[in-house]
Amino acid sequence: MEVKQHERLHRDDQNLCKLAISELEDIYADLGLSIEELDLLDMPRRSFTVHFPVKMDSGKMKMFVGHRVQYNDARGPTKGGIRFHPELTLGHVMDLAFLMSLKCAVVNIPFGGAKGGVAVDPKEIKRNELEQVTRGYIHAIADYIGPFKDIPAPDVYTDEKIMVWILDEYERIKGEHAPAVVTGKPIELGGSRARSYSTSLGGIYILEEALKKTDMDKFEVSIAIQGFGNVGENAARILHERGYKVIAVSDSKGGIMNREGLDIPAVMKHKAKTGSVVDFAGATNITNEELLTCECDILVPAALSDQLTKDNAADVKAKIVLELANAPTTKEADDIFFDRKIMLIPDVLANAGGVVVSYFEWSQNLTNDYWEESRVLERLKKSMITAFNDVYSICREDNCRMRRSAYKLALKRILQAERLRGNL
Ligand code: GLU
Repeated sequence: MEVKQHERLHRDDQNLCKLAISELEDIYADLGLSIEELDLLDMPRRSFTVHFPVKMDSGKMKMFVGHRVQYNDARGPTKGGIRFHPELTLGHVMDLAFLMSLKCAVVNIPFGGAKGGVAVDPKEIKRNELEQVTRGYIHAIADYIGPFKDIPAPDVYTDEKIMVWILDEYERIKGEHAPAVVTGKPIELGGSRARSYSTSLGGIYILEEALKKTDMDKFEVSIAIQGFGNVGENAARILHERGYKVIAVSDSKGGIMNREGLDIPAVMKHKAKTGSVVDFAGATNITNEELLTCECDILVPAALSDQLTKDNAADVKAKIVLELANAPTTKEADDIFFDRKIMLIPDVLANAGGVVVSYFEWSQNLTNDYWEESRVLERLKKSMITAFNDVYSICREDNCRMRRSAYKLALKRILQAERLRGNL
């Protein structure tokens, strides 16, 4: 059935996923979805906001706001990161939770999608305050998460240490051990080998498969990476180790470039010492904007959302864009890249390595059988290559962009699960 816009637009759209509405109308029409199917996809199963008090180091109480959206759970318990960011809104979390549902379906792991977070700038508060904020948030949502309900993980500005506080707070409340309630834990507390760099390595497996479809030579390509947090830094490190030439990297303070290739281990040392990649001796300083449009073959946005927009997409020189961040490209920029025949490898495929190894971590926790690193890497590679080829063949058949193929594949899988459950 054709998508009947008018039937949907008069609805109160407070609880609708904006991304679903704006980006997916064409795909919905292509897939010939019914109104029931659309309704099922446009709304999260559960979305909530919590307010909780935290005693700050000054002795004063401060209220914080957190959100969690469990978007779709037809294929399994919901799964997705928790981010700490001062501008976090429920609407944005909803979009990201929707993306997680698609991501888990693209790589075919038995999870639905979720996302959550707290509106806080972790750089502005003390370590103890950060711990109390994490514990306060988990206290507020503890009844709604769990190994078979909803499983958090790291995301923007959250790390292993925060995952430990999540685990500990949850276990204190429940009065039992439950390592599978959260992934991205340190190895000593049930984390998986390779989880800490799995998003980056998964993206590199995808990139290597994509390069095979082009005439570019692995050792001649130049790569620019925006973002030097966990994902960007590990991507730069692994690419460098595998013999690639990384010519530019950046963080929130700015970027650096060396056309001959950066000495990444030295850049990492410089960042550890000074707090930023900027002013690295073996390179020239550039802005983040210059990095995005610099002369390079592969561009890897690995920072925040909405970096590639209608204002800079026409100036991007790369032939491949590998989205390691979530939603770094706007719809308009995506259209421009497609017209310019730039291969855009979408986030739901490119950065899914993180959640794939989260799935391995969860399985290891539930079976109490811990894997060697080589086994994790072998299975990660297999999952990523299979997903890439699944998406690429739809792309070929339909002659459409890769994001569209990935969404199509994911939506089909999610709707099939809903159908089998009798919800459709
Ligand atoms: N935050 C990561 C993502 O956006 C990982 C999620 C997870 O491992 O559950 O994919």
